[in-house]
Amino acid sequence: MTASTQAKSLSIPKTMKAWVLDDPEQLRLTEKPVPEPGPAEVLIRIDAVAICGTDVEIITKGLPAWIRGGLPFNKNFTPGHEYMGTVVKLGAGIDEYAIGDRVAVEIHAGCGRCERCRMGMYTSCLNYGQNYGDHQKGHRANGFTTDGGFAQYAVNHLNTLIHVPDQISDEEATLIVTAGTAMYGLDVLGGLIAGEGLVVTGPGPIGLMSVAVGKALGAEPVILTGTRDARLNIGLKLGADHVINVGTENPVEAVKRITGGKGVHYVIECSGAPNALNEAMAMVNRGGRICLAAFPGKPVPVDLAKLVRNNIYVYGIRGEGNSATHRAAALMTQKKFDAKLMHTHTFTLEEVPTAFKYFRGRIEDAIKVVIRVS
Ligand SMILES: [Zn+2]
Ligand SMILES: [Zn+2]
Repeated sequence: MTASTQAKSLSIPKTMKAWVLDDPEQLRLTEKPVPEPGPAEVLIRIDAVAICGTDVEIITKGLPAWIRGGLPFNKNFTPGHEYMGTVVKLGAGIDEYAIGDRVAVEIHAGCGRCERCRMGMYTSCLNYGQNYGDHQKGHRANGFTTDGGFAQYAVNHLNTLIHVPDQISDEEATLIVTAGTAMYGLDVLGGLIAGEGLVVTGPGPIGLMSVAVGKALGAEPVILTGTRDARLNIGLKLGADHVINVGTENPVEAVKRITGGKGVHYVIECSGAPNALNEAMAMVNRGGRICLAAFPGKPVPVDLAKLVRNNIYVYGIRGEGNSATHRAAALMTQKKFDAKLMHTHTFTLEEVPTAFKYFRGRIEDAIKVVIRVS
């Protein structure tokens, strides 16, 4: 924390700049009241926020955002969920954080009272979307069911906060939740993967982070598949032992060749390609495990007999559960991989529409586009 951070933290304005979603695709910059933190909550001055594919889904189609029992359009809703900032005000009962602390955030606070929340599966909260309307269930998923981070301030529940140490920059800290999603995928697959083979299909942000986190946990070999060499090259820098361009090589045959015909223990599927699960089944060994972090837009045929005969396990994950972000942040603090390689562009809060244009059009090979808010 610098002296200027401290000074800024002491003066909290009454209103703030915030983007709101009107009709689909229509974001508008407006003024909103600065929110007040309730019990077990803090007010964060947002310093940086990254754009995610889910933001694009929300802005174009609405879901998974769900505001007051319906789609998020024309409800004065502020999207944005991959942000970090500085704690500027403490709600009742907070002694875990101090004013001036730098924090990154998880999306899902969960309700803390349903069966799934109590299991650590708060991203699958059974009370999702039941908050701050007619149902006082306490659930909060900023940028999904409550106001998010394309704004100057946000209120966050204590459970969603992650301390950001000095050696992680603001821009890098916005990537903690992405790394946490990759870590959660490895968690559900079993967690301990040193010396075991991992294929990651699809070099988007979660795929690239799955490579980095898998390698940091000792997976061997780590193989990344994709269609664009620029992204595959970033995968190599993040720890992939092998990359396969599926445009020039059959990925199943390549995995068999690299592993001497044995296949790998785990696949994390991040491409959403229609045949990805069938290919993943051909890449894992008998008893292998597949985590689906992406999905095709329509139902697809799957060779279920192969799944059963080979005792293959398939898992779906939603978000960044089980406090995985804290473990991911620990790996980043220890410099086990350089998440900054994925941060390609920076814009200001006023430039959010341009930032989305770069992200959606992959202009100049954009991967993670970050908004500097303050
Ligand atoms: Zn996201
Ligand atoms: Zn819950």
